[in-house]
Amino acid sequence: MKNRILVTGGAGFIGSHLCERLLNEGNEVICMDNYFTGAKDNVVHLMDNPYFELIRHDITHPYFVEVDQIYNLACPASPVHYQYNSIKTIKTSVMGAINMLGLAKRIKARILQASTSEVYGDPLVHPQTEDYWGNVNPIGIRSCYDEGKRCAESLFMNYHDQNDVDIRIIRIFNTYGPRMNPNDGRVVSNFIVQALKGEDITIFGDGLQTRSFQYVDDLLEGMIRMMNCNDFIGPVNIGNPNEFTMLELAKAVIELTNSKSKISYQPLPADDPLQRQPNIELAKEKLDNWEPKIQLKEGLKQTINYFDTLLKNSNA
Ligand code: NAD
Ligand code: UDP
Repeated sequence: MKNRILVTGGAGFIGSHLCERLLNEGNEVICMDNYFTGAKDNVVHLMDNPYFELIRHDITHPYFVEVDQIYNLACPASPVHYQYNSIKTIKTSVMGAINMLGLAKRIKARILQASTSEVYGDPLVHPQTEDYWGNVNPIGIRSCYDEGKRCAESLFMNYHDQNDVDIRIIRIFNTYGPRMNPNDGRVVSNFIVQALKGEDITIFGDGLQTRSFQYVDDLLEGMIRMMNCNDFIGPVNIGNPNEFTMLELAKAVIELTNSKSKISYQPLPADDPLQRQPNIELAKEKLDNWEPKIQLKEGLKQTINYFDTLLKNSNA
């Protein structure tokens, strides 16, 4: 056995892939989740593995376990879900970080924080480098998530400086792939589900805002390299620098699904960032030439296959 590893938010989209990969690499995995946006279905295929444990727990309450490493992913990530109970979202990020950092300090575990490109807010610097401090509305509808994650980064740095906790921070840019919840509300899953059902594709605003989409496998590779990197704590951007407008994404999804869906334009939500693209030079330098390998069309095909099967089975 290599390491015993705690993954908070392990039953979510990214967490479930992470649990699977860590188990495949010969680790023992403890997956902790309150199932707010995650589901047992995402990890049910891991249950037969004796080195996998699934724990129902809310990270806003302390949790004690002996592990070597902690990946802290617990937090709703889609605007629809993190705005549903904004105070709970802040508690999850902030109290969750305090609880997990306290645990890491006590048991001397290494702990990685899944931070986000949202710490850059609606960025005035483009592409975003790690030394950019961001442009976040502290009282806007996205602030529960953005400021929660910024406070968590601050806590991580302070536990490192004051208490010598062995931290790592990654800033994840828009990531997609199989096991996103069909009702997740984020753009890739929305567009694919709409296209497969022949419903209108909902573009918010004029569709000219941009995002840079990373396939989940590329994220996992960067995340695990960062956790096991011995001379660098971050923060580091982990994302795919290929940038697309939402209109381009919609057209790609329509083409790949052969869908007859039409585009319908809806109001742009408040504080929706206009552009986002990671600068990944630091990740390349520190993480052994890490860079994304799976580009949008290939990643979309995998994700479309997943949702196609899911929708067919749920109609059956
Ligand atoms: P997700 O919503 O699928 O996963 C989050 C998981 O955390 C879910 O299983 C949920 O049930 C769990 N959770 C939420 N609140 C909890 C609480 N109080 N206690 C215990 N568990 C709780 O989202 P995801 O895309 O898998 O994101 C995982 C992490 O990565 C999040 O921290 C998110 O902020 C971060 N991230 C994701 C992206 C992305 O594009 N997917 C981008 C930047 C950062
Ligand atoms: N978006 C959209 N239609 C949707 C869902 C989202 O046009 O059905 C837009 C949204 O306004 C934003 C972009 O797609 O500009 C990415 O949204 P998402 O919620 O996926 O991620 P985030 O805004 O947090 O980067």
